[in-house]
Amino acid sequence: MTSRIWRWVGLLVLLIILTPSATFAGQSASSNGNGPLASPRVITIPAEAQPSAHFDPEAATNAYMAEIPPEAKARSDTYFESGYWLILWDFLYGAVVALLLLNLRWSAAMRNLAERITRFKPAQTFVYWVEYLILTSILVFPMTVYEEFFREHKYGLATQTFGPWMTDHLKSLAVELVLGGIAVTILFRIVRRLQRTWWIWGAVASIMFLIFEFLIGPVYLVPLFNTVKPLNDPKITQPILSMARANGIAAKDVYEIDASRQTTRMSANVSGFGKTMRITLNDNLLRRGSPEEIKSVMGHEMGHYVLNHIYKGILEYGVLAVIAFALLKWGLDWSLKRWGEKWQIRGVGDTAVLPLAFLIISIFGFVETPIDNTLTRTQEYEADIFGLNASRQPDGFAQAAIHLGEYRKMNPGPVEEWIFFDHPSGRNRIYAAMRWKAENLNLFVAPPSSAAAPVALTAPANHQTPTDASEKPKR
Ligand SMILES: [Zn+2]
Repeated sequence: MTSRIWRWVGLLVLLIILTPSATFAGQSASSNGNGPLASPRVITIPAEAQPSAHFDPEAATNAYMAEIPPEAKARSDTYFESGYWLILWDFLYGAVVALLLLNLRWSAAMRNLAERITRFKPAQTFVYWVEYLILTSILVFPMTVYEEFFREHKYGLATQTFGPWMTDHLKSLAVELVLGGIAVTILFRIVRRLQRTWWIWGAVASIMFLIFEFLIGPVYLVPLFNTVKPLNDPKITQPILSMARANGIAAKDVYEIDASRQTTRMSANVSGFGKTMRITLNDNLLRRGSPEEIKSVMGHEMGHYVLNHIYKGILEYGVLAVIAFALLKWGLDWSLKRWGEKWQIRGVGDTAVLPLAFLIISIFGFVETPIDNTLTRTQEYEADIFGLNASRQPDGFAQAAIHLGEYRKMNPGPVEEWIFFDHPSGRNRIYAAMRWKAENLNLFVAPPSSAAAPVALTAPANHQTPTDASEKPKR
């Protein structure tokens, strides 16, 4: 009876996969008429944020917020809030796929096929991984194409047509095939060898994988999708390198990435580990950001570097990994005792257990979303404060926060921010900048007359695209 239900669920998933595939096959992928989430092209320093004897951070923040057109704010709120639901749908959809593979015994069948193909155990694990990755990628494709392609186009955040997008998607699957295959093969070897303590050593191995990925990322992975080259404009690099030297960063180069190939978002990041660590600006930021904005964003990125956020992030990941692996061990034992025979899984060392393992990890990941976001957001706030002190560009920073607000809700409630935000909200970032400015008014010269026109930060006028000031490598 229950297996009949699962067959129906399988049919339904198949239908969901086929419908959007058929629709987009004939559809032009160029961005629709809605355009990007445009905030003002040139963000001026409002009168309330000009240095004066009665400078009030709250009033200055409100004045900056008032520069965002209501329709731009409404659209970015919709984009960001619908993202909350996607966290839930992604989790549920993934859970259904995992339960399908187990209950229809497709996972067991894939294991049997791998055993027929080769007799060598590690190779069997690798072959199973290939089957698993291909099958699950097809099953979750409707969600992937909606989230990463259609939705991004709808909000004017994507720049690729369907062909290049699909090519990038296939490339990242190939990377996952190789790196994921190696990781899964090693993990299963650990589980089979160390039957009582595998969950500890599995967590240790997963930390090693993360470090390895950071290490090779900037040099071998990023160039598969984008071109990264040293930035050669002294007008931009000199102030950045000077700020780097002032903060004890031994950087000789600043790198530029052609992120506009995929997206209209502005961003910069610190990536790599040890010797491969580098700071990279994306071309959207270079084209659209004012010099003050670029400097404030680079100050933020240097904050990540000087405050050792990559190493601290790995440490935090390590703690979460140990908890996740402990729950994994308990969850696997518990479920296999009940349904192992039905799913034809022989034990925790059987590769056919993989969908169950991913399901348990995804439950953990879903529940700890606010913890993960809060750990990241705390580091981002630290980098913000470091960046303000290093760059001394509170108005550039406010401008960056407004550009980021094109795809992040600017003014959430405190609980909403705690649960869903991996960066401080735009409003809180502007407020932090204005608070800093209020205490450093001596650095800024008041306009000559009280009737002075607002001073424009010099953004080039013909681009209307967003900024992400601050992405750490995703973990
Ligand atoms: Zn950041």
